Amino acid sequence: MSLEIDRKGESMDCKICKSQEEMNHEIGKFTHWILRDSFSEKGLKGYITIESRKHYENWEDLSDEAFGEYGPALKFALETIQKNHKPRKIYSVSIAEAVPHLHIHLIPNYEGDARGIEYIAKAITGDLRSKN
Ligand SMILES: [Zn+2]
Repeated sequence: MSLEIDRKGESMDCKICKSQEEMNHEIGKFTHWILRDSFSEKGLKGYITIESRKHYENWEDLSDEAFGEYGPALKFALETIQKNHKPRKIYSVSIAEAVPHLHIHLIPNYEGDARGIEYIAKAITGDLRSKN
């Protein structure tokens, strides 16, 4: 598996591109995807972000190859979360409005946590930080 892809034209002003360059909290790397442990940013144990390595704003812009590799990347991330933290459920959300760079939030939900949309919003904005 080649880990090199053409990133010419990607903006280093992008927060996601910058953190990929610095390999911050990287826990897995595929040709088209990088997995990041987002605990330090979000304050929720087991929170992983799957980021495309190139700039895509929408799912429909992905290459067939990137789509094909998303399944294995997602599986690796889910297994990593389950193995280490055993949440009751793992929510997945993709928004990509703050940065023009497709990324998927994998948000663990534990026994006793609130459930659903409000919990997801708090997890993404880091508002759950105080309870962990
Ligand atoms: Zn970027």
